[in-house]
Amino acid sequence: MTIMELDQTYVAGTYRRFPVEIVSGRGSLVQDANGKQYIDLGSGIAVTSFGVADDAWVQAVEAQLHQVQHMSNLYYTAPCARLAEALCRRTGMAKVFFSNSGAEANECAIKVARKWAAENKSPACSTIVTLRNSFHGRTLTTLAATGQDHFHELFQPLTPGFAHIQPGDLEALRALDAEHTVAAVLIECVQGEGGVLPLSPAFARDLEALCRERNILLMIDEVQTGNGRSGALYAYMKYGLSPDVVSTAKGLAGGLPLGATLLSEKVAHVLSFGDHGSTFGGNPVACAGALSVLSRLTDSFLAEVDRKSALIFEKLDGKPGIESVTGLGLMIGLKTVRPAADVVRACMEQGVLCLTAKEKVRLLPALNIPEDLLSQALDVIVRVCADQ
Ligand SMILES: *Cc1c(COP(=O)(O)O)cnc(C)c1O
Repeated sequence: MTIMELDQTYVAGTYRRFPVEIVSGRGSLVQDANGKQYIDLGSGIAVTSFGVADDAWVQAVEAQLHQVQHMSNLYYTAPCARLAEALCRRTGMAKVFFSNSGAEANECAIKVARKWAAENKSPACSTIVTLRNSFHGRTLTTLAATGQDHFHELFQPLTPGFAHIQPGDLEALRALDAEHTVAAVLIECVQGEGGVLPLSPAFARDLEALCRERNILLMIDEVQTGNGRSGALYAYMKYGLSPDVVSTAKGLAGGLPLGATLLSEKVAHVLSFGDHGSTFGGNPVACAGALSVLSRLTDSFLAEVDRKSALIFEKLDGKPGIESVTGLGLMIGLKTVRPAADVVRACMEQGVLCLTAKEKVRLLPALNIPEDLLSQALDVIVRVCADQ
C-alpha cells in the first residue's frame, strides 16, 4: 500500500487530508513525495514559528536530546525551570504550568478559575464565560468552552458551567453575573478558527474593566495568537490588557508539543500539590525548543513580523476577488469571492500551502519567512483570487 492508502486504512478518519505527502522541508519551503516544492503559509497551523528544520532550533533540541529526553515531574530539569523563568520575565506573570497542547493549557486555566472562585468568592461561583464563535479545544471541557454549537452536537453531555456571549455584548455578561456566579471570562484576542476576527479593542478594554469591577478573572487564550504570531510576544500586549491567566501552545516550542498556562500573582498559588499534573508536561526537549524560539522573539524581530504583516495587507487588500483582509501580525484571514476551499486547492496546485478558517482563507506563515518567498506566494494568491 502507498502511504496514503495505509493512512486511510489505519488512521482514524478525523482529518480530511489533501492528497499530498510532505516528506521534508527547510524554513518556509516544504517538499512532497513527488519532489514538488511548496511555499508554506500554514506553519503546521501556527506551530513551526521559525519554519521547518530551522538550524538554531534543531541545534537546541538536539543538544537536549543528547542530555535527557524525558524525566518525570518528580525531579527538576533545567529547560523547564529556565523556560518558566523566561516566560514570567517577558510577561510579568508569576508562575507557569506546562502541558502538551492548547486544549490542555485551557483545561488548566479552567481548573484554576474554578478553584480560585470557590475559595475566594463562593462555591456557587463556577461559570466560565466565553465568546460566541470562539475555539478553545477538543476535549469535552474545552468543547464546552468553545462557542460554536456545531462542535457540541454529537458529544453531549459536555462539562457544565459554561456560557457564551456575543463579542461586544457587555450587558450579557452583567446579566450572567447578576448573582455573582461568574468565575472567569476566557477570550481570544483574535478568533483564529472562527475566521481570523480581531476583537474590538474598545470591547476588550470594557470587558477587562467589568471583570475588575466584578472580581471576575480575565483569561486569554493565546494558543494561536501567542509567541510572536500577533507581532507582539502575546496579542494581549497589543490590546493593552492585563490578564490574570494566559494559555498558550501551538507555536510555543516551534514544532514540538508544549502547552503553557501562565498565572498572574493573583492566582499563582491556587494550584497546590496534587491539584493538577501532566506526565509529559515540561518535557525537557520541548522546553529546549521553546527556549530557542523565545530567545529569538526580540523587539526588533517582532517589528519585522509587523512589517511583513503590513506587506500582506498592502499586497492583498482591495485586489480583485478579495473582499476583505483581517487579522493581526502574521495571522491573516481573507474573505474571497471564490470559495476558500477552491482558493486553497488552486494555490496548492501552484505551489503555495494556505489554510482555511470557516469561510475564510487563512495565512499563518513562519514568523521568519523571507520577504521574497512571501511576495512570491502572495502573487500566487492574488492571481488565484482574481481568477473567478
Ligand atoms: C488550536 C487552538 C486550541 C487547541 O489547541 P490544541 O493544541 O489543538 O489542543 C485552543 N485554542 C485556540 C485559540 C486554538 O487556536
